[in-house]
Amino acid sequence: MSRCKSCGAEIIWLRTKAGKPMPCDPKPILYRPDPKGEQTYVNESGIVCKGTPDTESDRTGYISHFATCPNAFMHRRR
Ligand SMILES: [Zn+2]
Repeated sequence: MSRCKSCGAEIIWLRTKAGKPMPCDPKPILYRPDPKGEQTYVNESGIVCKGTPDTESDRTGYISHFATCPNAFMHRRR
C-alpha cells in the first residue's frame, strides 16, 4: 500500500489498459457502467469506464484518487 504524497491517504496503483499507472482509492466500489456517469472507475484488468455507484451491481471498480483527493489541485499543477 502506498500513500498519496499530498493528502496522506492510502492509495493503490492500478495500471490502465493504456499502460498508465493510476492512483486509486483502495476500496473497491460496486458500480454500473454508465457513459453519462459522473465517476470514472478502473477495474482490476485496467479497463477504465464511466459509471454510477450501484450496490446491486456485480461489478467492482476503483475510483481514481484524483477524483477524491482534497489536494487534487496539487497533482494537476505538475
Ligand atoms: Zn490525495
